[in-house]
Amino acid sequence: MTDPFLTANPVLKKLEDAGYDAYFVGGSVRDFLLKREINDVDIATSATPAEVKKIFPKTVDIGIEHGTVLVLVNNGAYEVTTFRTESEYQDYRRPNEVTFIRNLKDDLKRRDFTMNAIAMDRNRKLIDPFNGFLAIQNKIIQTVGSPSDRFQEDALRMMRAVRFVSQLSFQIERRTVEALSMLVHLLENIAVERKRAEFEKLLIGKNKHNALNILLETNIYLYLPGLQAKSQHLEKLLDFESSGLTVNEMWSLLIFCLNLKEKEIEVFLKEWRLALKEIREIGRVVHFLYKRLEQEWNLNDLYSAGRETILSTERLYLVINKIKADDSIEQWINLYESLPIKERAEMNVSGNDLMDWFNKRGGPWLKETLLTIENKIIAGQLDNNKEKIKEWLMKCNLK
Ligand code: ATP
Ligand code: MG
Repeated sequence: MTDPFLTANPVLKKLEDAGYDAYFVGGSVRDFLLKREINDVDIATSATPAEVKKIFPKTVDIGIEHGTVLVLVNNGAYEVTTFRTESEYQDYRRPNEVTFIRNLKDDLKRRDFTMNAIAMDRNRKLIDPFNGFLAIQNKIIQTVGSPSDRFQEDALRMMRAVRFVSQLSFQIERRTVEALSMLVHLLENIAVERKRAEFEKLLIGKNKHNALNILLETNIYLYLPGLQAKSQHLEKLLDFESSGLTVNEMWSLLIFCLNLKEKEIEVFLKEWRLALKEIREIGRVVHFLYKRLEQEWNLNDLYSAGRETILSTERLYLVINKIKADDSIEQWINLYESLPIKERAEMNVSGNDLMDWFNKRGGPWLKETLLTIENKIIAGQLDNNKEKIKEWLMKCNLK
């Protein structure tokens, strides 16, 4: 993998050449120091958004009001954010006003945890006024400044702390946990979308077991959609070894633990403000999972589920039944792959053909006949061949 900092270096250099300060900041510096894979490289600069846009010919305004401009150089895209402070926090939420500043240290000071408040220059020199590197070495999550002040400014930080427990296998520093336990109720004011982003990262983290325990112990779960009065169900989630599952598979597992009926799934996921596409996907997986827990796959279900849903369903089936290494997934996928068609569009016959052959207008008969043909093809009882299909239909003498 190419070093993402190296490819981003020219962005820093250009800003510096124009007389501004520019540093790598945030999660990418933390993950670099942890030798974890780095996702996005965030850049902080003393240049204002307008100044950044003057320097780089190609930019996209992605959050100008927060000072963020996306800079496109070579083949990369980098978020460049002006040093800022956040003032006037209202209702324990994000501030409604940001002030651009020219000073790095004040920018680092507004960040949530010391491990996230380290800047790194082009030569990999760290600017670390809050001893974030030490916290990383000690695997400690600690707020920059007073935890209760910082949680009162933005209550989401409490959930961020717990998701970092899951992601990084760190521990939350004692005073920070104490403040968290006192202030969880402030999560009431936080938008569900923001909670969801953190919760999803928590669900797929390596150390989710500990993180889920903290959610329960600190009562954070009481402020999460659909989880009030569900501590026992959440404890059930702790029973499963679910590493390696995708976010949607984790939602499906959670739904299984919550014992939700099929019609309750959509309501639950809508409360969490998931996108319709995700809701559908998870709904399908849970549908086939419930079925799979009762019986083995049949050809029709494999066909209607499709490859990705079969894979997710089987992975969950193994997790729920606590089966470790197993070649059953491969066997079911092989059976799926052997289906003569994978979707309706692959049928070598159309509604027009049928209307032609029977010299009849469309109507319910058309849909029914197509479905019969489809089922026959899937069951291997009829070739997916136009002539053969016609022959068979004539023999059946369908009207
Ligand atoms: P990830 O690797 O999951 O993206 P991250 O630490 O980069 O983790 P982001 O949400 O991308 O998380 O935020 C980038 C940086 O912005 C953080 O490292 C932190 O410095 C700062 N930050 C993000 N959210 C907050 C917040 N609610 N309060 C204060 N600072 C925050
Ligand atoms: Mg990030």
